[in-house]
Amino acid sequence: MALTHVNVPPENHVKVLDGQGWVGLIDTLGTETTIVNAARVSFGKIRQEMDERDVALLHYLIENRHTSPLEHIVFTFSVHCPLFVRGQWHRHRTWSYNEISRRYTEIDMEFYVPPKLRKQAENNRQASVACEDFDDAALREVIRAQNEQSLKTYESLLAAGVCREQARGVLSQNMMVTFWGTVDLSNLIHFLELRDSEHAQWEIREYAKAIKKLIKPVVPHVAEYYESKGEVW
Ligand SMILES: Cc1cc2nc3c(=O)[nH]c(=O)nc-3n(C[C@H](O)[C@H](O)[C@H](O)COP(=O)(O)OP(=O)(O)OC[C@H]3O[C@@H](n4cnc5c(N)ncnc54)[C@H](O)[C@@H]3O)c2cc1C
Repeated sequence: MALTHVNVPPENHVKVLDGQGWVGLIDTLGTETTIVNAARVSFGKIRQEMDERDVALLHYLIENRHTSPLEHIVFTFSVHCPLFVRGQWHRHRTWSYNEISRRYTEIDMEFYVPPKLRKQAENNRQASVACEDFDDAALREVIRAQNEQSLKTYESLLAAGVCREQARGVLSQNMMVTFWGTVDLSNLIHFLELRDSEHAQWEIREYAKAIKKLIKPVVPHVAEYYESKGEVW
């Protein structure tokens, strides 16, 4: 099989952050039938297709947090995101991760420039406020220039003979990174609850929403359950 670069998005990727980032579904293990079969495994019976009773069972499992049958479905995603989003993402310990290493390569270096700047929320240090009348063009240019400067400094350190593993320390938090993340459905739902939330930063929330789009065709009745609670999938 021919090798392609990991920075090339998979065919089914969903673009986020104004087209600067993306997430794609690389691989899936199991279907919704796997979940109901796992839940009924003690009866020793296996079904090939879902019927209405299976859908009801699936919704019951989610509603009552019988999470272990959901762990039999596993997803692998390829994620292209800014370093600071990766930092938030990797706090989720139930995922397995692998990432391009800047110790090996300096090709394809890209930096995120927020498509719209938000203001600091006054009563919540962790929150931001979208302001339509915020004239941010000049400030976005400051960010772009700082990103570029960090790359120039990095390159000048490499040219002077500094090793990649130390030189990379000067690269901006806006640097785009690409990683693979693998997670089971139960822990993915937990991630989506936390990260597609108004408490989460807009940037990581974009990825959580994109993941919902990617997995909906694989787990349509799971999506249906959350849609019945008013969520957008
Ligand atoms: C809006 C928001 C703001 C945040 N702000 C901050 C912040 O200011 N500072 C900060 O440090 N973090 C912050 N976090 C990160 C947060 O504290 C969690 O680390 C992150 O959301 C991962 O959640 P988790 O541990 O539930 O997920 P996972 O690591 O995927 O774990 C899933 C579940 O598995 C169980 N589990 C996993 N590992 C263990 C373990 N070792 N022991 C026991 N049970 C375990 C727990 O039940 C856990 O809920 C923030 C998260 C959000 C969503």
